Amino acid sequence: MTPRAAKPLAAAAIAQLEADGVTTLIGTVVNAAGLTLAKTVPLRRMGPFADPGLGASPVWHVFAIDQTGIVFGDAIGVVGDQRIRIDLGAVRILGDGLAWAPGAFFSQDGSPDPYCSRGALTRVTDRLTEAGIEAVVGHEMEFVLVGPDGSPLPSHLWAQYGLAGVLEFEGFVRDVTNAAAGSAVSIEQFHPEYGRNQFEISLSPMAPVAAADQLVLMRIIVGRVARCHGLRVSLSPVPFAGSVGSGSHQHFSLKRADAPLFSGGNGVGAMTPEGQCAVAGLIAGLPEAQGVLCGSLLSGMRLQPGHWSGAYLCWGTENREAAVRFLVGGPSNPCGANIEVKVIDPSANPYFATATILGLALDGIERELPLGQETTVGPATMTDEQREQAGIALLSPEQSDALDRLDRSSLLRGILGEAAVDSIVAVRRYEHDTYGDMPPEELADKFRLAWSV
Ligand code: GLU
Ligand code: MG
Repeated sequence: MTPRAAKPLAAAAIAQLEADGVTTLIGTVVNAAGLTLAKTVPLRRMGPFADPGLGASPVWHVFAIDQTGIVFGDAIGVVGDQRIRIDLGAVRILGDGLAWAPGAFFSQDGSPDPYCSRGALTRVTDRLTEAGIEAVVGHEMEFVLVGPDGSPLPSHLWAQYGLAGVLEFEGFVRDVTNAAAGSAVSIEQFHPEYGRNQFEISLSPMAPVAAADQLVLMRIIVGRVARCHGLRVSLSPVPFAGSVGSGSHQHFSLKRADAPLFSGGNGVGAMTPEGQCAVAGLIAGLPEAQGVLCGSLLSGMRLQPGHWSGAYLCWGTENREAAVRFLVGGPSNPCGANIEVKVIDPSANPYFATATILGLALDGIERELPLGQETTVGPATMTDEQREQAGIALLSPEQSDALDRLDRSSLLRGILGEAAVDSIVAVRRYEHDTYGDMPPEELADKFRLAWSV
């Protein structure tokens, strides 16, 4: 947004929002630990929030998940100030006098801040555009309903994907659906999941930055509606130890000159050669990307075989145990063939996560990486020998390993930038160093609401 463009746009937008009863605007950013942070302004201050932006200390990037931790480092300390600018093109009405807009970090001279996740995703999207490729991303949001103090709710009537779950929480389900429609968020489907009091909402595919914005907005909507019903929403990857976790899977598809890369070709599942390279890039980079996509202290507890969390480093058509699931195009798939990255969990910053998977896909295309064989069965049904022969490994559940790989990764540093990787590694290492010795049950209890909004 250029300064000159911001002013008339803000004036027009303010008049419209006023007419809609809005008095208060919330702007959000998501930090390296996956925490959603916010500032609010009275509506008349919307213009300055967009440009020059509101001040925020650089330590916002490194607030940790334990409600107090700040991971100071050489580059981030008590000195300095940045600007959070909201995107006026993305303002949405929440209801009850509130509106919301996604924000991004800038330095005081107006240049993009290298720690900013929305900025990192914008840069990756620009690189794709330069390469002649257009990406579309669709998010899934799994979450568990809990009491206001994070305590488990009764689940006597719960069955996996059961109607009882819908009826037990019908007011919540209806109000979320209505609120999403009121904020122009496009829900594809909303259903009870496998875990007790666990739900999933799938969102319509959109351009990458808009899609991540939409996920943040959906989290806000779900959080607000849950409060009205005396509930809270756990966005922890493992809300309860020993149970299934919650994923934050991302689907993406790519096009060149309007022609899809994951269909209409001669490769497996009708992928084009470039589509295959994109998947190969993703698989090749996943071990280094794990610290971004599912790098929290709790994330490893979710990555277990048999939990449909994509714990096996392989790809397969409609294979729900593969880290990368290929969904073929055809009449039953109106959005077209696409790739689902299952390893991503809700502790991840969704902007960094999308930037990572699209960056890896582009890397695969640029380096023309060959695609390995697809895995057509549940990898757990294979013998160790068969898996070894097929090159299928389990992603390591050890957070410290994942962070070391990320820290050393020139590939990820190239995609996200040095500052972004440093901040992610810093907040995640803090989790490990401070709480790494806690037993799983205590960890799940302590951080059940850490990412909640
Ligand atoms: N809850 C699973 C996860 O942790 C995903 C289940 C599904 O396939 O939707 O990712
Ligand atoms: Mg699901």
